[in-house]
Amino acid sequence: GRGILPATCPGPSPAWNRSMDADPMPFAEHSLATPDNPAGHSERARHIQQLLRRRDLRLRFPAELESEFRAHHDDAALRIFRASLTWLALLYLAMAISALTILSGSHDGAWPIIFAGFALIMLVAWALASTRLMRGRYQRTVTTLAALMMVLATINPMLEPDPAFRTLLHIGTVFVVVVVYLGLSLRLPYALLAGWGGGLPPLLLATLFGVSQDWTLVIPTYAGASLLCMVLCFRDERQRRRMFLQGELLREDQRRIETLARELSRQALVDGLTGLANRRQFDQALKREWFRAQREQQPLALVFADIDYFKPYNDLLGHQEGDDCLRVMAGIFRSQARRATDLAARYGGEEFVLLLPGVDMAGAQQRAEQLAEAVRLCQLPHPRSGCGPVVTLSIGVAVMMPQADDTSAEELVRRADAAMYRAKAEGRNRVVQADQDPIAGT
Ligand code: GH3
Ligand code: MG
Ligand code: MG
Repeated sequence: GRGILPATCPGPSPAWNRSMDADPMPFAEHSLATPDNPAGHSERARHIQQLLRRRDLRLRFPAELESEFRAHHDDAALRIFRASLTWLALLYLAMAISALTILSGSHDGAWPIIFAGFALIMLVAWALASTRLMRGRYQRTVTTLAALMMVLATINPMLEPDPAFRTLLHIGTVFVVVVVYLGLSLRLPYALLAGWGGGLPPLLLATLFGVSQDWTLVIPTYAGASLLCMVLCFRDERQRRRMFLQGELLREDQRRIETLARELSRQALVDGLTGLANRRQFDQALKREWFRAQREQQPLALVFADIDYFKPYNDLLGHQEGDDCLRVMAGIFRSQARRATDLAARYGGEEFVLLLPGVDMAGAQQRAEQLAEAVRLCQLPHPRSGCGPVVTLSIGVAVMMPQADDTSAEELVRRADAAMYRAKAEGRNRVVQADQDPIAGT
C-alpha cells in the first residue's frame, strides 16, 4: 500500500487534491450540494431565509448583517436625499410664498426670521450633501439638521401673536413632522430623536417659563402627526429590512448558481478517482490540437499507456489498492505533462494518455521512455506480474502530421492503441512505435 512507496513517488493524495490546474478554487472551498443541503445553499443564505420567516416586530438582524443593512440603507438614503433636496426646496418655497401672501402686511411677527432659519438649514444640508462629509454619517448629520428644523417649527407658533395665523403655523408644523419622519430616510430611532428631541424641549421650556401654549392645537398637530408618522416610519423601515434580506438572498443565489455551474463544468472534465483530465477533456483537447497542428503544420504525438497485469493486481490486493495504484499513475502522468499544451489524461480504466503537440517521433519516444522509467522507479510492488516484481506499463507511441484530407484525430488514437497492443504482444513493459505516418514521413 501507500506506506511502502518511495519518497520520490507522487503519492495518491496530491493527485487527488489537485484537480484541474485551471480551476481557481480548490475542491474543498466550493459550497456544494450535500445530502442535507441538496440545493447547495450557503450558510448565509439559510440564515437569511430564517430571518425572513421570522415574524417579530422589529426585524432586527444579528450584528454583522445589521451593519451591512445600515451601510446599504444609508447609501440609498444619501442618494435619495440628494435627489429630494429639489422638492424639499419647492415645498419650502410654496410654504414661504403662502405665508408671505397670507401673513404679510397685516403685522410683523417673528415668522420671517424662522423661515430664514429654515432656508439656512436647507442651505447647510445642500452644501453637506454635495460634499463627501455625509458619507458614513448620514443618520447623525441629517438627524441634527432635522432636529433643528423641528425646534424652529415648534417655536414658530409660540412667537405669533395673531391667533388665526398661529393656527396656520401649527399646521405648518405638521409638514415639518411629515418630512422628518418620512422624507429623509431616517431610521426610526433617529427619526424619534429628531422629531421628539427637537420638538419637545422648546414646548416644555416655554411652558416652564410661563409662555402660554395652545395645547388644543399642539396636540392634534405636532403630537398627533408625530404619533402617526412614527407608526408609518416604523412600517417603512420594516419593509426596507425585508427588501434588503430579499436582495441579499438574490445575490447569494447568484453566487450559488455561479459556483455550481463552475463545479459542474469542472466535474464534467475531471476524472473523479484520480483528479486527472478525463476522457471527455482529452477528446476535446485532441480535436483542438489536431486542428491547430493542421493549421500550423506541426506534428501531434500521442503516448498511450496501459498498466500490465492490472486485473491480477486488483484480484490479489483488492480494488482499494488498485485505486491507489491508479492515483499514483495519475500523479506520474501529471508530472510528465511539462509544457502548457501537454495534456495527461485518464483514457479509461487503467489506460492513461499523454498528448504532446509539436513533438516528433524521437521526442515522443523519449517522453514515453521517461514515463516508463518513472513508473519503474516508483517500485510499486506487484506480486502477480508476468514482468517482474513491480508495476509496469506497456506503451504505444504514435505521431502524425495532420493533413487537410479526411484523416481524423481518431486515427492518431487508433495507431497509438495498436502500438500499445503490440507492446503487450511482444512481452509488455516496453515502448513500441506505431507505423510511421506515410504522408508526412515522420
Ligand atoms: P494486460 O497486461 O493485458 O493489460 O492485463 P490487465 O489485467 O491489465 O488487463 P485487463 O483489461 O484484463 O484488466 C483491466 C483491469 O483494470 C480490470 C479492472 O478490474 C481494472 N480496473 C479498471 N478500472 C479500474 C478502477 O477504476 N479501479 C480499479 N481498482 N480497477 C480498475
Ligand atoms: Mg492492463
Ligand atoms: Mg486495459
